[in-house]
Amino acid sequence: VRRSKETGQAEVYDTRALDRARERFAMETALRRAVEAEQLTLHYQPICDLASGRIVAFEALARWTTEDGSDIPPADFIPVAEESGLIVPLGRWVIDRALRTLAEWDKRAGTPLDVQMGVNISPIQLQRDQIAPLVADALKTHGVTGDRLKLELTESALVTDPDGTAETLRALKATGATIAMDDFGTGYSNLAYLQKLPIDTLKIDRSFVTGMMADRDKIAIVRAVLSLASALGMATVAEGIESWAVSQTLSALGCTYGQGYHFSRPLPAEQAYALLEAPRG
Ligand code: C2E
Ligand code: MG
Ligand code: MG
Ligand code: MG
Repeated sequence: VRRSKETGQAEVYDTRALDRARERFAMETALRRAVEAEQLTLHYQPICDLASGRIVAFEALARWTTEDGSDIPPADFIPVAEESGLIVPLGRWVIDRALRTLAEWDKRAGTPLDVQMGVNISPIQLQRDQIAPLVADALKTHGVTGDRLKLELTESALVTDPDGTAETLRALKATGATIAMDDFGTGYSNLAYLQKLPIDTLKIDRSFVTGMMADRDKIAIVRAVLSLASALGMATVAEGIESWAVSQTLSALGCTYGQGYHFSRPLPAEQAYALLEAPRG
């Protein structure tokens, strides 16, 4: 009896694994079509100066609505894109679209706006794509100066290929672009790279910001990151600010910039542009 039960269970697990594999393959196929047909969109979330509330940048975030109308979060489709290699064409499209949007906003404003555009770059893109010439081309195509572009990288790129990444970052810096370390504090890299690499900004991960008012440990970590950034001459952006109190506290602790639902959710281009014109209260 026991044996047959065990066999039965094993069969159940096999079926589930197969379902998962099928689901993943279906997603990959749909994503490939969506990338080819340029069916993805970008939303833009403002990054604000905590002291004045002024918008200093936007982060471009990929959005995918499938043909049947369901929204798939980037946390689900970016890993599929990375594993399948689709992140290379997808990532190129993101750089192009984000810079095109910035150029359109400049045109509407009649002058280059004093805002940067942040773009997330996957470690796979850094390793497999000719990212620096690509960025230089995109800047040229859209008539945007390099200092307007901020590339957000995660620590995982440094863990897998530190030497290659260092070289790529130097080439990227030569385009005038600035570099932010995204989700800082969640990776596994050592701190020595911070000193060696041309990193301009640390983005403090949302996990340290959410609930920080009631958690001394989180505040201690935030303080430590802020002091490290200050000692190394880097700017700081706190992610996931959802209330005025958190915004005020971070500002008092010495954090310069912030991003989060307290300021705005990521928005379609049109609505994001409107935020630049709206009076600040
Ligand atoms: P990320 O780069 O750390 O982006 C910030 C994420 O936090 C976004 O999630 C944003 O919507 C969310 N967020 C911002 N403020 C708040 C807040 O106050 N509360 C909460 N709960 N969340 C907030 P999103 O858009 O779902 O993106 C998730 C991740 O997917 C991004 O994390 C990034 O790693 C990746 N991603 C998104 N777009 C792209 C892309 O174009 N290329 C690559 N390579 N990765 C991307
Ligand atoms: Mg980011
Ligand atoms: Mg982040
Ligand atoms: Mg994050």
